[in-house]
Amino acid sequence: MTTVLISGASVAGPALALNLRAHGFDVTVVERAPALRPGGHAVDVRGAALDVADRMGILPQLQAMRTRMRGMSMLDADGNELFRSEEYAASSGRLDSPDLEVLREDLTGLLHRRSAEAGVEYVFDDTVTALTPLDHGVRAEFQHGAAREFDLVVGADGLHSATRRLVFGPEEAFVHHLGVYVAVYTMENILGLDEWQVWVQAPGAGGGIYPARGNTELRVNLGFESGPIEGFHRDRQAQRAELARRYAGLGWEFPRLIEGALAAPDFYCDAMAQVKMDTWSRGRVTLLGDAGYCASPLSGQGTSLALIGAWILAEELGRLPVDAAPAAYETRMRPFAELNQALVKNEPGSPEADAAIEFAKSAIRV
Ligand SMILES: Cc1cc2nc3c(=O)[nH]c(=O)nc-3n(C[C@H](O)[C@H](O)[C@H](O)COP(=O)(O)OP(=O)(O)OC[C@H]3O[C@@H](n4cnc5c(N)ncnc54)[C@H](O)[C@@H]3O)c2cc1C
Repeated sequence: MTTVLISGASVAGPALALNLRAHGFDVTVVERAPALRPGGHAVDVRGAALDVADRMGILPQLQAMRTRMRGMSMLDADGNELFRSEEYAASSGRLDSPDLEVLREDLTGLLHRRSAEAGVEYVFDDTVTALTPLDHGVRAEFQHGAAREFDLVVGADGLHSATRRLVFGPEEAFVHHLGVYVAVYTMENILGLDEWQVWVQAPGAGGGIYPARGNTELRVNLGFESGPIEGFHRDRQAQRAELARRYAGLGWEFPRLIEGALAAPDFYCDAMAQVKMDTWSRGRVTLLGDAGYCASPLSGQGTSLALIGAWILAEELGRLPVDAAPAAYETRMRPFAELNQALVKNEPGSPEADAAIEFAKSAIRV
């Protein structure tokens, strides 16, 4: 049986694992975190990704777990309402759209459960430290586990992919910073929001806040403008301190929201960035999702790209030899990935942005 190692258990990794099991592959997923990582903003499953979810047999579950917002308000930095909409929510777009918005951790939980039930081996709390090409495969060394050989290795380990670094070199050559950091975390619903989002604009900062889990909690997304900060993405303490510094002195509910950031166990903060590479594969190693072609949360398409990429890669591996499949996957996927990366050029929420995303989200066949 063909053996595949996937690095990263978020969206792309477990989705590929589930699809590969359906094609009869022997799949191991290694995840650096000690368990599935909780938290995250609501993410969108759109256009062709809905067809993928249908074929994967997870569409009914995604429909059942969708967020149900009634609308949104845009506030200025003092909390004054600038406008409101009952037709549109900034996180997901039109509320009458067939697209599905779900909490990231609900999606990753579903994909992990389904793939583990299908026989995928999960190894948490470990990471690849070396990948050596063999005649017909790859030897993988791990921080904790014993070295193993696989027919194929797939890096689905996100924006700061270790697989990409080991095989293609330092991330500075591929990661393009978009000038903004975003922190995402959960706290109690101190704003009393009832299926309603608020988005706040402050100079150089701002973000969106919405309730989840039956209005019992808030998902807070606060951003700040900044160039790349050296060594920042692994240092939660530095991220919390920087967020507090950027929001110090702002009014409205910001002080209480920052208190929430300091206490949140699922606090996550990273740069808005894109990954651009000339090729996603080298030998028997290939990249999937954010690791290979991150479009950034500003595109609203990262999760759909991960699901569609995972479907196409598995399909090509199901019909072609392992040496040929990654190139066939890239040929089909690259134009779609580049189209979606181009979405961030538009002003979010503008008619141009809405039209571009409508076009881009279905500009591929699965
Ligand atoms: C905790 C978290 C919160 C997020 N929150 C949001 C959000 O609020 N909004 C949004 O739009 N996007 C968010 N994202 C990103 C979003 O999940 C992705 O853009 C998209 O779904 C594509 O998924 P992916 O699987 O390619 O990459 P990612 O979701 O980034 O997943 C990569 C996975 O690889 C793991 N990993 C990293 N390095 C290694 C390593 N060396 N060895 C093994 N495993 C490794 C990570 O722990 C993670 O589980 C978040 C990602 C994470 C990890």
